[in-house]
Amino acid sequence: MPFTLIVDDPSGNSFIENPAAPTADQYCKKTHYLRDLAAYQFMGYPVDQATLQAEHDRLKEKQLEEINSKDAKFIGRQKAWVKQTKEEQEALLDKATAHATKPTTEAVAQAGYVDFSKSVEDQSQRNELAEDDPRKSVMKFPTPCYQCDKTGNVQMCFSSIPFFKEIIIMAFVCDFCGYRNSEIKEGGGIGDKAKRVTLTVDSDQDLNRDVFKSQTAKFSIPELEFDMEPGSLGSLYTTVEGLLAKLIEELELNNPFGQGDSAQDQ
Ligand SMILES: [Zn+2]
Repeated sequence: MPFTLIVDDPSGNSFIENPAAPTADQYCKKTHYLRDLAAYQFMGYPVDQATLQAEHDRLKEKQLEEINSKDAKFIGRQKAWVKQTKEEQEALLDKATAHATKPTTEAVAQAGYVDFSKSVEDQSQRNELAEDDPRKSVMKFPTPCYQCDKTGNVQMCFSSIPFFKEIIIMAFVCDFCGYRNSEIKEGGGIGDKAKRVTLTVDSDQDLNRDVFKSQTAKFSIPELEFDMEPGSLGSLYTTVEGLLAKLIEELELNNPFGQGDSAQDQ
């Protein structure tokens, strides 16, 4: 320390907590910038539509309401979920349930692939009943395991990141093979502009800041000449420290040469 953490997100949907909120954050710089063609394509827009939208942004630098309402379906080319240990997943659910909210119809619609048998109304009703106890508003439904194909369970809960936005957490657990992953979806479509957040990490308090990295965000640490490819790590709601730990884990997984021979004793 100190080092700089940069989170750069074409969807505008990432966030670093300001421990002093609502007072301005002197160690954290946020910039918004216009999305270009490549950014739209990266978010999953087909080429012609990406061209139109980038052009649209350039010509009319203002609210993109019509576009925004249709966006949710485009973001999805990148890996959205992130593999987790039991402890990581429990920490995430604790964080989420601390700010649990009643799902809005919009949030339920945003959840996208949740086409399990219940209607939107039934889901909301269940949550209204449990309003006094946020943990009870967690919904559970069966889904096939990524790893072994047997049936595991997704727990879904609605939450909000303070001073940011509503999120939907999908935490998957397979009782057969123990595989876990979590996926976080943001409510409210993409931001009006892309967003880059630059934080100077200079204390333990900075390491403990909450970070939300959406699936389209990449992050970098210039002091370490480190650049994480966008989309290579899914959506994460953690702390600066948690993000670094995930980064180290990912580097070890993807770079077997860095582990030495003794690490591969299968
Ligand atoms: Zn499994």
